[in-house]
Amino acid sequence: MSGLKAAFRPRSHFNARSGNRYSLLPLRFLALDDSRYIVTNLVGEHLVLPRETVHALVRHELPMNSAAYAELKASHFVVDADSAVALDLLALKYRTKQAFLSQFTSLFMFVTTLRCEHSCRYCQVSRQSESKHEFDMTVETAKAAVDFMFKSPSPSLKVEFQGGESLLNFEIVKHIVARVEERNLQERRAVEFVIATNLAPLSEEHLRFCADHHILISTSLDGPESLHNFNRPKKGKDSYALAVDGIRRARAALGKDRVSALMTTTEASFERPKEIVDEYVAQGFDSIFLRSISPYGFAVKTGQASRYQMAAWLDFYKTALSHIIDLNLRGVPFREEFASLILRKILTPWPTGYVDLQSPAGIGISALVFNYDGAIYASDESRMLAEMGDQTFRLGTLGIDEFETVMTSDRLLQPLLDSMSEGVPMCSDCALQPYCGADPVHHHATQGNSVGFKPTSSYCQKTMGVVRHLIGLLEDDPAAAHVLRGWV
Ligand code: SF4
Repeated sequence: MSGLKAAFRPRSHFNARSGNRYSLLPLRFLALDDSRYIVTNLVGEHLVLPRETVHALVRHELPMNSAAYAELKASHFVVDADSAVALDLLALKYRTKQAFLSQFTSLFMFVTTLRCEHSCRYCQVSRQSESKHEFDMTVETAKAAVDFMFKSPSPSLKVEFQGGESLLNFEIVKHIVARVEERNLQERRAVEFVIATNLAPLSEEHLRFCADHHILISTSLDGPESLHNFNRPKKGKDSYALAVDGIRRARAALGKDRVSALMTTTEASFERPKEIVDEYVAQGFDSIFLRSISPYGFAVKTGQASRYQMAAWLDFYKTALSHIIDLNLRGVPFREEFASLILRKILTPWPTGYVDLQSPAGIGISALVFNYDGAIYASDESRMLAEMGDQTFRLGTLGIDEFETVMTSDRLLQPLLDSMSEGVPMCSDCALQPYCGADPVHHHATQGNSVGFKPTSSYCQKTMGVVRHLIGLLEDDPAAAHVLRGWV
């Protein structure tokens, strides 16, 4: 054989590819409905296949010249004698998915004060009244926190000021920013600052400082005025008016894309999904993150209560998402951020950087919290738990414990190891594992151990509910699928 013909194998080579000479690569499956399964592999590639096809596949009875076999082979579910590089490709994709681990801890939350002039219904941090200055971070603590942060090997560092209301201790915010900037002249890391604030105390001085130091603003907006004010009571009943005015002024001073908002879904929100979305559109945001309430404080007291809440939240979420998709179909571009993160996991090989859905969990190795009193916590939820009297995830104390000691302590490593979803009961067999994560703090708080019992876990219920809904839309609703694919 010579010339062009030499580049091709003879027809008989392809005819011979029938029968049962293929091997399965690691895969998992889960019923989508009565007749179809979601099948996923190690790196989160997915196919939705008829039940009979999956049965034939796992019995090694799938014809190798069928369209389903070609799809499964292309997506690394099977290998045969003709797939020399398949395993190397799979390994490369797995490494890409886990690339977030190479960054190490990059998010540092500085709790500048526990003082706050709001008394939000879902506040989990035992906020203190405005006059109690003993709940402010001191200069010594701030100095130790900055030194500790720069011990992280991460090339990028995000400094997030949290409260209480972080702006009530603005002097310490200024001090930390100056100290970080000075230190970074030598360190040369990519540093980003964010102030989480309810915007009520926002002054022109705050805005000038934020503009001068390229600081982002993150605020809370729970929905329309009556709902926001109900969820976030304060003296004067003007939380909504102050938030909306603060968003306007901050955008004018910093730029529209420098101001973001987060909502929290309370029971009062469940009846108003469309109004909440419409409020975000009316305020000029191009996305919303539909967040369920954190299971700390009241909700922890009964596991049944948190499961009921999650079922109600899922109904709320699906109604809001459907409304957002309708808006897009009517020409209003608008995204739901939780769906966008999960779709990125389903449809691309890239990691998302979203710490609530990663394994190993994000505690400590992705984010750390420096409390106003010098305590170091593994996550924001860990300090909420501590405010309820449970210090399980307190990792150390600034000025006393070294970075290396904290990051290699059993207090951090044991829950990380125990909870990795690749190896824990139910998750290790779950088709949605590549899109899910581990949350040892949540499971410790709600079920008493870091691993959790997934059949009654509200974390599991939430991920299962949202991922199955999204895959159902991708499969069965072409118009919705077109919108959802545009968010990735
Ligand atoms: S938590 Fe639930 S959805 Fe997530 S991997 Fe485990 S079993 Fe699957």
